[in-house]
Amino acid sequence: MSDCEVLHHCPIWSSFHSHVKAVWINNYCKGPRRERCARLQLMRAGQPVAVDLLPNGTRMPARNGSENSAVG
Ligand code: SF4
Repeated sequence: MSDCEVLHHCPIWSSFHSHVKAVWINNYCKGPRRERCARLQLMRAGQPVAVDLLPNGTRMPARNGSENSAVG
């Protein structure tokens, strides 16, 4: 499976510092959930995409360690 076409400039990952970043990327950007990515769907629809919108449609928590929550 090829990587998401915007993986190398998707803004969510430059501000995401948790160790689970790789899990998100492997599940969505490089994996089977990519077509379900909320960011990608909005982008393709020409809609604005919040910088902190996670692929599962939730928002990235503030940097307090809670971004270690499960990837879904
Ligand atoms: S978060 Fe979504 S839009 Fe961004 S690179 Fe991953 S799959 Fe593509």
